[in-house]
Amino acid sequence: MRQPHPSLTGGAGGGSPFFNPEVETLSRSEIEALQLERLQKTVRHCMNNEFYRKKFDEAGITPDDIKTLADVRKLPFTTKQDLRETYPFGMACVPIRDCVRLHSSSGTTGNPTVILHTKKDLDEWANQVARNLWMVGLRPDDVFQNSSGYGMFTGGLGFQYGAEKLGMLTVPAAAGNSLRQIKFIKDFGTTAIHAIPSYVTRLYEVMQQEGVDPRRDTKLKVLAIGAEPHSEEQRKRIEEMMGVKAYNSFGMSEMCGPGVGFECPEQNGMHFWEDYYIVEIVNPLEPVPDGEIGELVLTTLCREAMPLLRYRTRDLTRVLGRTCPCGRNHVRIDRMRGRSDDMIVLRGVNIFPIQIEKILMKFPEVGTNYLITLVTEDNNDQMIVEVELNEGTDDFAKLQTLEKEIRHQLGDEILLKPIVKLVAKGSLPVSEGKAVRVVDKRKVYQ
Ligand code: AMP
Ligand code: ZN
Repeated sequence: MRQPHPSLTGGAGGGSPFFNPEVETLSRSEIEALQLERLQKTVRHCMNNEFYRKKFDEAGITPDDIKTLADVRKLPFTTKQDLRETYPFGMACVPIRDCVRLHSSSGTTGNPTVILHTKKDLDEWANQVARNLWMVGLRPDDVFQNSSGYGMFTGGLGFQYGAEKLGMLTVPAAAGNSLRQIKFIKDFGTTAIHAIPSYVTRLYEVMQQEGVDPRRDTKLKVLAIGAEPHSEEQRKRIEEMMGVKAYNSFGMSEMCGPGVGFECPEQNGMHFWEDYYIVEIVNPLEPVPDGEIGELVLTTLCREAMPLLRYRTRDLTRVLGRTCPCGRNHVRIDRMRGRSDDMIVLRGVNIFPIQIEKILMKFPEVGTNYLITLVTEDNNDQMIVEVELNEGTDDFAKLQTLEKEIRHQLGDEILLKPIVKLVAKGSLPVSEGKAVRVVDKRKVYQ
C-alpha cells in the first residue's frame, strides 16, 4: 500500500483510524485548553486589521480580556455584510503579498465576498479534508473522483488538495458530463466520489440509462456528499442507489470551504473540528443548550490571512453530543435544517424546503428531483410542489391517489396543504451547481 507522503502534517500510519491522532483523540478538557490558547492568539492577530480594531473598540474590549473560553462571547459577531462592506481585502490580517489564493462567492445583492488564504491556510484546509476522508476509511491506495464544480466554488480545489494530501490518486472530474464521469469511474477504478447530493442522483439516473449497476460494475465504496441541505431520507436513497455509505460533509467558503465538519463511520452527526473552530449555537444571539436548534456561529482558530470571529453562518442546526464511540470528542452537529435565508414564509407559516423533501422521499414512487414554486393566485399565496415520478404510468387514478396522499402528509408536516404535481422523470431542471429548490414568483404580483 502507498503510504501518505512524508510531508503530511501529522499523517497517520496505514493502520490508524486517525489522520491526526494527536488532535482527533484529545479529551474535552484538552480540546478546550487548545481552543483557549488559539483563540487568544487569533484575537491578538486580528489587531493587525483596522476593521477588527474598530470593532473591539466599539465593544470596549482588548485581547487581554480573553481569559477563558467563555470570553469568546465578549467578542463581536461578524457577518456576510461585514465581508461585503470590506470588499475586497479589508478584512485581511496579513499583507496581501503573503496570500497565495482567494475564493469569492457572488451574492445575489451587493458586492461579492472574498476569502484570502496564505500558504499555511491552504495547508491546514487540505489537512481538514484529508482528516475527514481518512476518517471514513479512505487510504492512499484509493482512487478519489471529485465530481464537484472547480473554480471559485471551494468544493473543487478544497477536495482536490485534501485528497492529494491524503495521498490518493485524485481525479478532478468536476461537475456534469455524466457519461464521461461514469467512464472514469469504471476505467480508473474510482473508489470514492465527492459530489453535491443532487448531482449524485443525476449520476445514478444516467448509470441506469446506460445499464451500469454501481454495485456490480464499479469499485465504489464511499461517497462524500454536502454543500447543500439534504434530508436523512435523501441520504438513505443515495446509499441505496449507489450501494455505498454516503457521508455528510459541511463546509463554507468563509471558513475555508469543505472540511469544517464531516460524519464519522457512526453517522451520528458531523464532527466539527474544534482544534480549528469554536462552535456556538445561538438563538437569537444567546447560546442555547445542547440539543436546541439555533444559528451556527463559527470562530476560526488557525487562519492567518482572514480569521473570522463569531461568524454568523445563518445555518440552523443543533449540537447532538460532544463524545462519540469512534473515539473523537469533537462536537457532533446535526445535519443543517437549512439557512435562515431559505426559510419560506407562506401565509404566516415558516417552512424549510428540507421538511418537504423529507416527506417526498417517503414515497418510493417519486424520484429525488423536486421544485417548490410559490405563486399568488386570486390574491392568495399558494405553494406548488412538483416532483418527478420514478417510472412513467398511465394509471390516472393511481396518480391521483398518490398526489392526494403526498398532499395530505405534507399538510401534516408543514401545516398547510400545497398543490402537488407529479411530473415525468427528467422534466424538472437540474443545475450543475447547488440545486435550486424554491422559486418564489409571489414578488411579481406584489
Ligand atoms: P459556500 O460558501 O458557497 O460553499 O456555501 C456554504 C453554505 O452551503 C453553508 O453555509 C450551508 O448553507 C451550505 N452547506 C454546505 N454544506 C452543507 C451540508 N452538508 N448540509 C447542508 N448545507 C450545507
Ligand atoms: Zn465519531
